[in-house]
Amino acid sequence: MPRVRSKGVTIVCSTSEQLPNTYFICLESANEAVIIDVGFHLEWCRQQIAKYQTRLVGILLTHGHLSHVARAAELSETSGKVSVYLARDDLHLVQMLPSFADSQGYCGVKSPRVSILMDQGGQFTLGSSLVVNYHLTPGHTPGSCCFKIEKNHFVGDLWDREKHCYGEAKAWNHEVQRLSSSTYQALLNKGDRVHPGHGSSWQLDS
Ligand SMILES: [Zn+2]
Repeated sequence: MPRVRSKGVTIVCSTSEQLPNTYFICLESANEAVIIDVGFHLEWCRQQIAKYQTRLVGILLTHGHLSHVARAAELSETSGKVSVYLARDDLHLVQMLPSFADSQGYCGVKSPRVSILMDQGGQFTLGSSLVVNYHLTPGHTPGSCCFKIEKNHFVGDLWDREKHCYGEAKAWNHEVQRLSSSTYQALLNKGDRVHPGHGSSWQLDS
């Protein structure tokens, strides 16, 4: 199970061959954790929370596709209705999840109650001191979003290690801070780590 330590945070990835990645990020000084993209890894998420003896303080969704969101509602509900973050432009996808999941043969999928709808890029603090920067990066879905914690970028399905893009936005709009994937890549700095929705993470050495 891949695990990364980064200036006070521990990051664990659920990597499996068939399913998208779920990331567990634990702030060591406060025993607080966030999870990015729950997907179907509900039990794995619960195991990490117990193993690290942490309190879950947020669920962040990079976009509204079933395989990244499926069990987010249950995780939120059984963790004290912890806040769920999603870009507003993907809310329609999440609201359609139960019927879409049924049509795909997955029973019992619920739409998570989204507490924070993101309209533009910015920054928020989860728990006592876990600072999260985020950028809206439409293309793969209308409301795709990248999250940055310390020097770690969680890019969902924006692109993978082979720089394969799953959907490129054409527009660059300063007013609403929406970035194309290539523009977002230009924001990365040497030493940053990129954690994609599929496949393994990598570190920028140039
Ligand atoms: Zn996707």
